[in-house]
Amino acid sequence: MPEKDKMLALVLYADFKPRPGYAITEAEKKTRKVREGNKVWYNPRIKLEEKPIPKPKGKQVLIRVKAVGICGSDLHFVETDKDGYMIYPGLVKTPVVIGHEFSGVVEEVGPQVQMVKPGDMVTSEEMLWCGECTACRLSYVNHCTRLNDPADLEYGELGFTHDGAMAEYVLIPHEKYLWKIDSIAERYRSEDKAFEAGSLVEPTSVAYHAIFNRAGGFKPGGYVVVWGAGPIGLAAIALAKAAGAGLVIAFEISPVRKELAKKIGADYVFDPIELKNKGVEPWEKIMDVTGGEGADMHVEAAGAPEHTLPQMLKSLGIGAKITWIGRAPQEVPIYLEVLQVRRAQVFGSQGHSGWGTFRNVIRLMAAGKIDMTQIITSRFKLTQALEAFERGHKRIDGKITIKP
Ligand SMILES: [Zn+2]
Ligand SMILES: [Zn+2]
Repeated sequence: MPEKDKMLALVLYADFKPRPGYAITEAEKKTRKVREGNKVWYNPRIKLEEKPIPKPKGKQVLIRVKAVGICGSDLHFVETDKDGYMIYPGLVKTPVVIGHEFSGVVEEVGPQVQMVKPGDMVTSEEMLWCGECTACRLSYVNHCTRLNDPADLEYGELGFTHDGAMAEYVLIPHEKYLWKIDSIAERYRSEDKAFEAGSLVEPTSVAYHAIFNRAGGFKPGGYVVVWGAGPIGLAAIALAKAAGAGLVIAFEISPVRKELAKKIGADYVFDPIELKNKGVEPWEKIMDVTGGEGADMHVEAAGAPEHTLPQMLKSLGIGAKITWIGRAPQEVPIYLEVLQVRRAQVFGSQGHSGWGTFRNVIRLMAAGKIDMTQIITSRFKLTQALEAFERGHKRIDGKITIKP
């Protein structure tokens, strides 16, 4: 049990101001659980403040947070467009404590909790899926309809609709979202490092889900191209390497991230802008380094389909797979003929839950097959959270991690 009753937390506020033309539903008005944040939340801002420490009931678990990463979506909560609206386009309910990539220690458990106990080192899924809707019963928990339903306040996303982990403590609504990370501590022989790794299980699971669950993976020896070396792209590189890719080829423009891509396992890292300046297209480079055979798998982690898709379509190996993680609210043309001729397929991927993904990522970390802590380039205390965000907006880091 916590020794005090108040905790420090980073809270996101914004004004509820639906844009003209956004068909706001009655449920959204009532619950403020909004489907498209960028269409409703105006003038977003974050504040560090004192909040009561929640008391776990039923199957709930209170976690003392040890490490929490700043995700691209956290930055997009506070960044605004020219009209002053939040950039983040997905599900958000404010005010909310943000933070969803984290690890910590079980502090206190509700009376019905069976699987964890105080003192356990854990991380948690961010998607609060129900397990009962049709999508969940089909095992598609990443597409839980109650999670996305503005009328349903029980389910949602931790750090988006439910208070998250940029705080001293976070209340997990059900023990079923938790995964133990003790095995990672044994590998690193350092709890501190294990908590850092544990905070990276969620973003790594996003890449794992896309490559192995959605697209069904690639054969050992396969050539894998990763577009974008942000944290998700870097995880894709590490996973592709660990899974026996013959070559991992990454495209990235940020100097820091290019370095990290190499460090974490990419055989080749190219800067598409540098290439263009030399009159070389990225697809030509792929064909060059793969001996004219092309990629067996393309992983889109850039969210820039207008740039990446045309390059992918020109560098598909026979039987290639494209797995799509990056989000972009725009349409792009696709020449389907190429997919037929190259026997290729595109897979859309969303989320990180289900399919044993967290468990398998934790196993890979515990076995030393991937070391995601290498991507952390800045560390801050929770009291310095606003400073950490200032730095985050500059986009000069691999991952920024806050350690309360
Ligand atoms: Zn995230
Ligand atoms: Zn569900």
